[in-house]
Amino acid sequence: MINIVLFGPPGSGKGTQAQHLSEKFNLKQISTGDLFRYNIKNETELGKLAKSFIDKGELVPDQVTIDMLTDELRKPSNTNGFIFDGFPRTVAQTEALEKIVRQELNSEISICLSLVVDDEILVQRLIKRGETSGRTDDSDVEIIRNRIKEYYAKTAEVAELYKKQGKYVEVNGVGDISEISEKLFAEVEKIK
Ligand code: AMP
Repeated sequence: MINIVLFGPPGSGKGTQAQHLSEKFNLKQISTGDLFRYNIKNETELGKLAKSFIDKGELVPDQVTIDMLTDELRKPSNTNGFIFDGFPRTVAQTEALEKIVRQELNSEISICLSLVVDDEILVQRLIKRGETSGRTDDSDVEIIRNRIKEYYAKTAEVAELYKKQGKYVEVNGVGDISEISEKLFAEVEKIK
């Protein structure tokens, strides 16, 4: 099994690259952001709760996010593994993921691929995406800056945990999308 954590700040291109990786290696992509947006669209209780955090650019509480992820991971799938896009975002989520992958899949996280993009480029990308995405959290510069702030306050330290395990690999996330994909593919090939 190959289980990839795709890591990086908001706007670093995780969603796009997760899709490319999932097609290339036949992995199921699990995006917690997409799952929340699906619940918001369908006006579920989970969606209502998540919306109050997402609209401010804050993280949804750990336990809510971990439970949603666990449910998704338990669904049967016919793939070579998983790609986690936008999860884990806190130390507690990282520890929970390790446990769930061990218990549910009898496996482990193979690699954490981290997309590196300068903050000002992130803000520009997110403002541009907001023109077409319809995402409320992309439409306001203050909310965008708060998401980046949350990333440094709570998420950046996740990288340290994967570094300690020797599983952390950085890839430059600025440039041609397909060239970035190729670099990510090459890193996965190394550990296959
Ligand atoms: P994303 O699509 O990954 O940029 O996520 C959009 C928003 O959903 C984030 O700004 C958070 O409010 C929420 N979210 C997504 N994934 C997580 C997570 N792993 N933990 C907490 N909140 C999350």
